[in-house]
Amino acid sequence: MEQKFEIFPWNNNFETGIDEIDEQHKKLIELLNNLANLLTQEENFQIETAFSELAKYAEYHFKSEEAVWKKYLKDSDLVVAHEKSHDSFLPKVLEIRNKCDNLQDTIEEIVLFLIRWLAFHIIDEDKRLSLIIHSIKDGKNINEAKYISDELMGGSMKIMVETILSMYDNLSLKAIELIKEKKARLRAEKELKSINIKLHKLSITDQLTGLYNRRYFEEIFNRELQKSKRAKTYINVILFDIDYFKKLNDTYGHDVGDSALKKVSTCLKKNIKRGTDYIFRVGGEEFAIIVTNEDIENLINVTKILQREIKKLAIINEHSTVSKYLTISGGIVSLIPSLEDTIDSIMKKADEKLYEAKEQGRDRFVY
Ligand code: GH3
Ligand code: MG
Ligand code: MG
Repeated sequence: MEQKFEIFPWNNNFETGIDEIDEQHKKLIELLNNLANLLTQEENFQIETAFSELAKYAEYHFKSEEAVWKKYLKDSDLVVAHEKSHDSFLPKVLEIRNKCDNLQDTIEEIVLFLIRWLAFHIIDEDKRLSLIIHSIKDGKNINEAKYISDELMGGSMKIMVETILSMYDNLSLKAIELIKEKKARLRAEKELKSINIKLHKLSITDQLTGLYNRRYFEEIFNRELQKSKRAKTYINVILFDIDYFKKLNDTYGHDVGDSALKKVSTCLKKNIKRGTDYIFRVGGEEFAIIVTNEDIENLINVTKILQREIKKLAIINEHSTVSKYLTISGGIVSLIPSLEDTIDSIMKKADEKLYEAKEQGRDRFVY
């Protein structure tokens, strides 16, 4: 599970003893912690949303807090000063926000500001006012209450508050560093994943034609063979080879040969499009197709289409004794595999059929 950062740990000593205010303070801190955690993510819109949620909640909290203070302290200068403190909050946040256009850096700075501001607000300002209110509730007049509050918040308590504030400062800076590191790690992991996907694709692809390669043929063949054995269903392989390809190479050069291989491959991809079928280049000018869920009639149909479409490419091979255009010959094997069947035993059968097709004069398929 991902580690969640508590950038602002809550402590019960921060409580003012006024339930409504304490609940709201806790909620504010929770929103702040959430916002800080979102800094590890790439999506800006989530940060935006969390940020406006926090800003909105802060405003709501200020209003309801001011109402509590007013209830006991009326319009005393203490309340006015506190309202001013509240009023300075959003403009300050917006000022940081408008300063630079990199959202990530901005939010970091805002988070640091929020921690400082909230820590001071909660453990100093609100604490003072709540102490006054508690004394008033105990029957003291406002001046006595103010005096008691100042006494309690002064001296060693004052040093304590300053110490806590500076500790929170350090803590939040460290947390932001950790958050940045986590973000960098997440990004690196994501890149690694996408590199691995690319590498895998490369490792199963034939460079020249873009078809799957021999290695992947064996992997898929074995997988399909196991499936067929278990389910007692047909496994179908079409194996074929270009006719007189050596003559084509010898007559027009290796580059023309390469280009012919590419054209044939494109033609295969165009005509075999079902997601469950696989096309491989298994040798120099040899191809294999693994077809699932097809009966022999359909397989023969597929090979007829391939023969027709490849001939239509009109790749000149003038020294071929079969046709002036490039042709193919192949074997089709379709069987329900027995337990003894292996990739080799089945490919041996396919090879035999391919050989028969060549013997019978090429430009044909034998099954
Ligand atoms: P057959 O009809 O009996 O199949 O005759 P063939 O000439 O096609 O068969 P053979 O096995 O004698 O020759 C295959 C040729 O394919 C020889 C080889 O140079 C060529 N070849 C294999 N891989 C490539 C390649 O990647 N590019 C090119 N241009 N030629 C290749
Ligand atoms: Mg307040
Ligand atoms: Mg050949």
